[in-house]
Amino acid sequence: FWESFNAEMRSEFNEVSYNAWFKNTRPVSFNKGTHELVISVQTPVAKGYWEQNISARLLQAAYAYAGIDIYPVFVVDEDANNSERMVQPQKREAPAPKAAPAASSREFTKDLRLNEKYTFDNFIQGEGNKLAAGAAMAVADDPGTFYNPLFIFGGVGLGKTHLMQAIGHQMLAENPDAKVVYIQSETFVNDFINSIKNKTQEKFREKYRTADLLLVDDIQFFAKKEGIQEEFFHTFETLYNDKKQIVMTSDRLPTEIPDLSERLVSRFAWGLQVEITPPDLETRIAILRKKAESEGLDVDESTLDYVASQVDTNIRELEGALVKVQAQATIQKQDINIGLARSALADLKLVQKSRGLQISKIQEVVANYFQTTVADIKGKKRVRQIVIPRQIAMYLSRELTDASLPKIGQEFGGKDHTTVMHACDKIARQIKTDTEIKSAVSDLRQMLER
Ligand code: ADP
Ligand code: MG
Repeated sequence: FWESFNAEMRSEFNEVSYNAWFKNTRPVSFNKGTHELVISVQTPVAKGYWEQNISARLLQAAYAYAGIDIYPVFVVDEDANNSERMVQPQKREAPAPKAAPAASSREFTKDLRLNEKYTFDNFIQGEGNKLAAGAAMAVADDPGTFYNPLFIFGGVGLGKTHLMQAIGHQMLAENPDAKVVYIQSETFVNDFINSIKNKTQEKFREKYRTADLLLVDDIQFFAKKEGIQEEFFHTFETLYNDKKQIVMTSDRLPTEIPDLSERLVSRFAWGLQVEITPPDLETRIAILRKKAESEGLDVDESTLDYVASQVDTNIRELEGALVKVQAQATIQKQDINIGLARSALADLKLVQKSRGLQISKIQEVVANYFQTTVADIKGKKRVRQIVIPRQIAMYLSRELTDASLPKIGQEFGGKDHTTVMHACDKIARQIKTDTEIKSAVSDLRQMLER
């Protein structure tokens, strides 16, 4: 699989880039138990480049060509510059002493602190979040008893992280010595990989398995990562058996997380799974009012109402809209009123829709995701492996930009607008029935909205 991937990169990059990033980059070892693929690169810069830009593609390629999950771990090989020989795996097992201090100081990502604003006091309850808020409060009052684990799921910017951290704050308020561990699931993944690399698995386990409250945010990133799931399973078992509370968030239900192991899916259902849905207008107004108060802003009700009506799904964006109005008022040295809010937010709908996204970017990201090419996405091939990505790209172009149907058709190799319409309808319907399509669209949407 490495050779195919390498060939693909060679055809994609020009010679200079290829030589810089790929030429002396080699797999060193693969651990079947942990799925760790150690890759040696020439320079620290190349390591950074791979981590940032290539490893996601490598993961996909490994999966596509060889059907394996890998966790790439990059090591800089100082000798690679003046030697063409294969790197000896043994060499890795006895790292040079000078590497040790650097490695151990970066052993684990620094613990994430709780955001001090994310408390129950600052959380406005309303339609859409009151069940989740009630469950979170019950858990904070009586951890490890009723709802263990608590699984909070829902869309971006709806308050999952806020609620989860509020549980942590409350536990610490009642018992300052409690061990509250908040972690983003990606950090768990990285820590795990580092612990293998640095042979500090014991420490890694101790960190998680001795928590009184473990908060794991955005657990959908465990998708398809078998080794991580295995490790998390044991963490879960230990904490659960000790009656320690576990809280997780995700953008979707466990059953919809691709390749989440059966035993995790079933354990996640032992406690309570509760959804946060977008807030209604009244709740949005209340959130803005609270926010305005805490910022010391003087905003009248009709303006709050207006701003709240402009952003209807994402509370982070709702807060952003208020900040925008505030900035406009400061610049123009005016008080905040509805007229000012209107002009400050005039372009918001448009910006929200297009976010400057280009259809060509959507095509590129979709092509990458499905391991196909932009040419095929825009082309006429009728095979399923290409038709579905093409239709998804059309659907996302419709959803995420303000381009008209004919314009989208044009960007997809001059297709008729009825073809685009058909594609959008079809994907919209399939999202409701086909979990693979649903999760692909949701992954892509997240990547594009970032
Ligand atoms: P998620 O984790 O679901 O993406 P966050 O918890 O990060 O969302 O929330 C996004 C922002 O919206 C945060 O600043 C958070 O404080 C705020 N927020 C979300 N829900 C509420 C709420 N019910 N009351 C007050 N602020 C909220
Ligand atoms: Mg979050």
